[in-house]
Amino acid sequence: MGRVRSYLIAGNWKMHTLRAEAVDLARRVAEHARSVPAVRVMVAPPFPWLLPVAEALAGSPVALGAQDVHWERKGAYTGAVSPEMLKDAGCEYVIVGHSERRQYFGETDETVFRKLQAAISVGLRPVLCVGETLDQRQAGWTLKVIRRQLWGALEGLTPPAAFTIAYEPVWAIGTGVPAHPEQAQEVHAFIRAEVARIWNASVGLHVLYGGSVTPDNVEGFLRAPDVDGALVGGASLKAEAFCTILDIAQNLSAGRSG
Ligand code: PEP
Repeated sequence: MGRVRSYLIAGNWKMHTLRAEAVDLARRVAEHARSVPAVRVMVAPPFPWLLPVAEALAGSPVALGAQDVHWERKGAYTGAVSPEMLKDAGCEYVIVGHSERRQYFGETDETVFRKLQAAISVGLRPVLCVGETLDQRQAGWTLKVIRRQLWGALEGLTPPAAFTIAYEPVWAIGTGVPAHPEQAQEVHAFIRAEVARIWNASVGLHVLYGGSVTPDNVEGFLRAPDVDGALVGGASLKAEAFCTILDIAQNLSAGRSG
């Protein structure tokens, strides 16, 4: 499996921000991103702010992402947004299979597969989220759950040249209780090996850690050999915190080679 050595730091704004806040946050991140050239940066605002945020990011190195996508190109799917619409709005990335989508919106491995296929077909870069619940971890099922999510999502997809997976333990999302970097490293190495088994092809794979990442703990994750960046929720809503995370990734980038 191909190694991608530059960090990707992605901000998932979830269902937060009104328009002016979103534009202000995007402008501040765009401005700061120029000083972290070694780091790839992405922000995923709510759907209604994709266009104004795209405008605020114009000319900056920050990529735009969406938080979800439908699997059909168009049709009678009230409330849904198609992959082509996201492309047209300026998105480069789309988050697929976030645990909140799985928990509250009935997302399954089957719908995740269809969304990935649809996103890739129009040239969007998906960020596939996987992760175990606390009960599953305590029962010793973590790797089994991750394996099922990966095979369900990826088996049968034509391997893209580049792909991103976020390991997000459900118990660490929005709880203020992050995983230990060693727990992340174990799962990240497993994800890398499992994706190599599923696709048996050279894919530039970014494996991000997500779950209560803050400026205070991100360094531990980024130092883990199989962690290629972070998917940041709460801390991505504060420009100062998110930019500090970018600075830390930039400083650690020099030590990543090969
Ligand atoms: C997320 O939304 O994917 C996430 C990891 O949230 P938080 O950083 O707030 O835990």
